[in-house]
Amino acid sequence: MKANGVVVIVGAGLAGIRTAEELRRLGHVGRIVMLGAEALPPYDRPPLSKGALAKEDAVPPLLLAPDVLDSLNLELHLSTEAVGVDTVAHTVSLADGNSVDYDVLVIATGAHPRLLVGAPVRDGLHVLRTFEDSQRIAADIRRGGRLVVIGGGFIGCEVVATARSMGAEVSMIEALSTPLQLPVGEFIGNYVADLHRDNGVDLHCDSLVTRLVGDDQLEGVELSTGEVIESSAVVIGLGVAPTVEWLKDSSLHIDNGVRCDSSGRTSATDVFAVGDVAHWKSTTGREGRHEHWTSAIDQARVVAANILASGDEPLEQLHDLPYFWSDMYGLKLQALGWPGGSYETHVMHLGPNQDKLVVLYSDEDRFIGTVGISAPRIVMSTRAMLQTSTTIDEAKATLLSA
Ligand SMILES: Cc1cc2nc3c(=O)[nH]c(=O)nc-3n(C[C@H](O)[C@H](O)[C@H](O)COP(=O)(O)OP(=O)(O)OC[C@H]3O[C@@H](n4cnc5c(N)ncnc54)[C@H](O)[C@@H]3O)c2cc1C
Repeated sequence: MKANGVVVIVGAGLAGIRTAEELRRLGHVGRIVMLGAEALPPYDRPPLSKGALAKEDAVPPLLLAPDVLDSLNLELHLSTEAVGVDTVAHTVSLADGNSVDYDVLVIATGAHPRLLVGAPVRDGLHVLRTFEDSQRIAADIRRGGRLVVIGGGFIGCEVVATARSMGAEVSMIEALSTPLQLPVGEFIGNYVADLHRDNGVDLHCDSLVTRLVGDDQLEGVELSTGEVIESSAVVIGLGVAPTVEWLKDSSLHIDNGVRCDSSGRTSATDVFAVGDVAHWKSTTGREGRHEHWTSAIDQARVVAANILASGDEPLEQLHDLPYFWSDMYGLKLQALGWPGGSYETHVMHLGPNQDKLVVLYSDEDRFIGTVGISAPRIVMSTRAMLQTSTTIDEAKATLLSA
């Protein structure tokens, strides 16, 4: 980018603000314009299904204190939605009819919850992505009555666990035979199912919701068995889709997110993408969207460096090792690498008392991922092996001898 060029960042969430911080840290003195559809300055989302959901009078978990945000000298436009990009004219158009010119554009528009197809909006039906969503769910939980969570993914599991800690009666409906089966497989899925049941959750696996009961106000959900679970508060936790609708008329390559190479560059030279919206290629050859807090930060660091790289410098590449965590019932589940329901699992009980549950994942004989339950040191100790070509037998032997 030319010296003092204008960087426009669309999306004032984690990935957007980390890109801006990193640009300033690396010495960029030019204008940074940040456009955010929400009214709040950048805030953190993980607490929304955990502490900020449970806490009475919770305040938005801001990512930066106001004085630190001011010190970045951003042109921050909140409640401002971008509706299109012209990558030839280098212009972002806004919902209010105005437009903003850029030298470099960073797309950081995150993702939004998937809805239950055909379910009209009505009181008591929730998704969870924003601070406001979290506060509306908290208010319904405090009003009393049963909470139903549809979908046993991470957000669904965390909402269920937090709602139980708040004293709510909770039912969870999951289409597969266990929660979390796609991201971490059946073994951990069964472990989490038992956790829910042990904590008093009414868990329905292998179950489909066929209908929401009630008109303006929700009254319950009907399952494919015909059973109706009465409830005036339902949270849909069916995963998220990348927020790319506003780019549909652009020339950018969009396919399950904004397609990027391993430097974060999109199909247009001066446009980068970061965070949940970005579909990155990593240097390992793997590609995809991560939807993880740590990936947003890693990508922001690489993109900021590449925005400031001079034309003849090679661009920095993402040496990606995805990491995410989830908190439930006082336990911390951590995942490193590429665990997944379709891979072979290897269950280990490690630590001095063999009480640390760790599951390794292999693809053919290659070690590719680790999940641990409240075993942070052991999970992190597998990082180097995941970054090199290690066989599953070598990984197991290393952990057993540690
Ligand atoms: C409830 C919850 C709990 C989570 N817990 C964990 C966890 O425990 N561990 C973990 O690893 N990850 C967790 N995550 C995921 C993590 O928070 C996300 O990966 C991270 O927030 C991604 O950041 P982002 O900036 O890409 O997207 P976002 O944080 O979604 O930010 C994108 C922003 O862009 C704005 N925007 C969208 N479209 C436009 C537009 N057209 N114009 C202007 N602005 C726009 C949005 O309003 C939003 O503010 C959780 C997420 C949620 C919702």
